Amino acid sequence: MSINLERLASVFTTLCEIDSPSKQEGRVAAYLKSLFADMGAEVIEDDSADKTGSDCGNLFVRFPKGGLDREPVFFNCHMDTVLPAIGVKVKREGEIFTSAGDTVLGSDDKAGIAALIEVMRTLQEKNIPYGPVEYVFTTCEEIGLLGVKALDPTFIHAKIGYALDSSGINRVVVGAPAANRITAEIKGIAAHAGLSPEKGINAIHLAARAMARLKLGRLDPESTANIGLIEGGIASNIIPESVLVTGEVRSHAVKLLAEHTEHIRSIFQAEIDNWTDPDGVVAGRPSLDFRIIDDYPAMKLERGSAVIKRVETAAAALDRKLDYVVAGGGSDANIFNSYSTQCAILSTGMDKVHSTRETITLSDMALTAELIMAILT
Ligand SMILES: [Zn+2]
Repeated sequence: MSINLERLASVFTTLCEIDSPSKQEGRVAAYLKSLFADMGAEVIEDDSADKTGSDCGNLFVRFPKGGLDREPVFFNCHMDTVLPAIGVKVKREGEIFTSAGDTVLGSDDKAGIAALIEVMRTLQEKNIPYGPVEYVFTTCEEIGLLGVKALDPTFIHAKIGYALDSSGINRVVVGAPAANRITAEIKGIAAHAGLSPEKGINAIHLAARAMARLKLGRLDPESTANIGLIEGGIASNIIPESVLVTGEVRSHAVKLLAEHTEHIRSIFQAEIDNWTDPDGVVAGRPSLDFRIIDDYPAMKLERGSAVIKRVETAAAALDRKLDYVVAGGGSDANIFNSYSTQCAILSTGMDKVHSTRETITLSDMALTAELIMAILT
């Protein structure tokens, strides 16, 4: 059942060196379309580009029957990479891959894609029977899961699947938090800071008073909150008329996510409501426009679920023990789990991702490929 290591290394290098920052996945998509068509698969590109702003859609790859009667599964990887991602040059020393140092490597998520390609090539070449399988490649994962959010889940026939998109090896991510993005826009009244400060309402000051009362960071074992961006003001001699504060709340518990989000809203609102005009000369009151954007839902997979049992059986056949872990962030899998599919996240061996020190080894990629193959066979 052994895979072709050098072929895996070569496909991985080719994929990494096709630049694909978010919204510019088109060249990788074109490469995959022709490669999978040559392997006899049906490849569908959806029309999500209209919604995501990418130069291509999501890809759905359906392989001919492999002769084994199993529950159908899908595998997912995202085609985009984080920046800096232009002009990627792969460096290989022995079995260790890195970038040349000025870009990311792109093993997030191309290590997963390369493993999926090598698995199917091995199965076909050696005539190994396999169960029904689809591959789903998404765009714009790194900039808000835009591709997966825009896809039509009825394009996926399998009810269980695996996103290959996590660091480590032999790890399965079974849970991830839900997240709300929040924006608080406070409107005050502009006035000359030296001539008529009594007539102004300082929006930045109001926001600062509210923020000083917020609890941020780790709120409880399941939840976190952050304020990450403050935009407002024009000049030091103008009382600022408006400020936009952007932040987020994450929680593994839906109820806590709602409570913490409401707590933040109420603190901003109280600051606006409690504002007074001591001199009675301001022509108006401050106001708050507080928005909650439902970023992604939580995912939580039970140990006895079909998707976990399938990978557990595959690992046992390889004499491997898996670690089941909970993630701190959202990924495509959160969205797949909100559709009528169960999707666990499998590690691919990638390391130091989202940095120019990103690295992966060939043997870890091979371990990933062998686990995928065991799931299918
Ligand atoms: Zn990723």
